[in-house]
Amino acid sequence: MREWVCGCCGRWRVSVELIRGRYVYRLVHRYPRRFGGGKNVLGEVGSVTELAELLGRRTPLSLADLREAA
Ligand SMILES: [Zn+2]
Repeated sequence: MREWVCGCCGRWRVSVELIRGRYVYRLVHRYPRRFGGGKNVLGEVGSVTELAELLGRRTPLSLADLREAA
């Protein structure tokens, strides 16, 4: 599966997930290790347009801030 991560801190991630037979973009924010290292799923959307909107609502990022994870 493809995955993207932000270039600023590496804590915002977008992955492609197969959910009930449909591919969705899942936006996750990871907490720093000192806060326990958990993660928070901020949303799952079905298109790049919706992903851009979700990023605008929930993060300081835009699509251009994401790069493909190794
Ligand atoms: Zn970042």
